[in-house]
Amino acid sequence: MVTSNKTEFFDYLVIGSKEYLERDKKYPYPDLLRHAMNSLALEIKQSIPFPKTMNGFLKLLEEPVKDWCPSSFIPKEFDRDFGLMDEGSLSEEANDYLAEVLLEKGGIPEYARASIKQLAIDNSKFTKTLDQLRDVYNDIDSEIAQQEYLSLRRFLIENPYTTPSQIRKVFMRTKHISTEEVGELYEECQDNQTYWYCDRCGVLTEKHGKLKGLKPRLCGNHHKDQSYVHQVERETGLLQIKDGIHQRVCFPGIPELNLYSALAELTEKPPDCLQQVKLYPGLDRYDLQLRFSDGTVWAIDIKDVRDPYKLAKSLKPLYGEGSLRYDESFYVISDRCMANYPDYLEILRQAAKQLPNATHVVSEKSFKIRVNDKIAKLQKGGTI
Ligand SMILES: [Zn+2]
Repeated sequence: MVTSNKTEFFDYLVIGSKEYLERDKKYPYPDLLRHAMNSLALEIKQSIPFPKTMNGFLKLLEEPVKDWCPSSFIPKEFDRDFGLMDEGSLSEEANDYLAEVLLEKGGIPEYARASIKQLAIDNSKFTKTLDQLRDVYNDIDSEIAQQEYLSLRRFLIENPYTTPSQIRKVFMRTKHISTEEVGELYEECQDNQTYWYCDRCGVLTEKHGKLKGLKPRLCGNHHKDQSYVHQVERETGLLQIKDGIHQRVCFPGIPELNLYSALAELTEKPPDCLQQVKLYPGLDRYDLQLRFSDGTVWAIDIKDVRDPYKLAKSLKPLYGEGSLRYDESFYVISDRCMANYPDYLEILRQAAKQLPNATHVVSEKSFKIRVNDKIAKLQKGGTI
């Protein structure tokens, strides 16, 4: 096998390691991993002795890549301060790289795609259902399509684990979403295993008695005594959300639903200054639409991306046509991202300056203060 460029070696190393872990570290080693190890043995930084055993090699992968990998081999999308592995599993950075970069990238051998294609298949099932609803939305049934979209999305965020009977109960009467379609977004759990989940980040995996979530840097403390960590009740036919859906829908959806609930509570308070909070309007053209008693409309997109530079590249003005029109728009950064990266807002604001119409970039905390200030001014009879 010949690699046409140096970062391909790195891709093989990530995919190969993933395959190896999925085979429960059984012999023979995946071709890609073997190939990547051979290349690395020739090119590894001279100060580092090449590990003699597979376990030693996996331990090396836990070290920051900049410490052992030649610089020209590290793709620019991978943060070199992090390792490929973390406590015996693929690291958060490596998982993000697989899901966000490799899936989009060409040049991966067809057979290697097999190991990452599952993530793509999971996502394509969700996008297929979403596309069906979009068709209906654009035709006649826009209200029903919106309601059913909301039920599906909320269900996936709120239920990292479920059962076929719960799915039937919720989706028995939906017109455009079948119970089979929802079932395909989950996979069966094993009978003899204990499962755990976190209210803040969803599915947890247990290794040597320690629980770990999808993104330990955003949600890291999963001691079994924490009030937000739960053991899943054993039920017949227990299902767990598929990886791709957990990554793309469930995990980022948790701060979205939390902010929605906090704001929806404000609509119940007299004298009705915040009149309506709409979740995922227009089938998720943005996350929340707030309507105030003076007729002002705010549009909000909640962002839960760990790396501000990564997010900065994808910023664009929020869609604002028809019923999605707004007076002010906001990118609201989740509290857990802010806590993880103190300069987050500064970095993002620089990038947001390029946007044609001003979208405010704020933290979750300061956004809630803004909403309360707006309500207070409306109560006094003024406008802002
Ligand atoms: Zn968590």
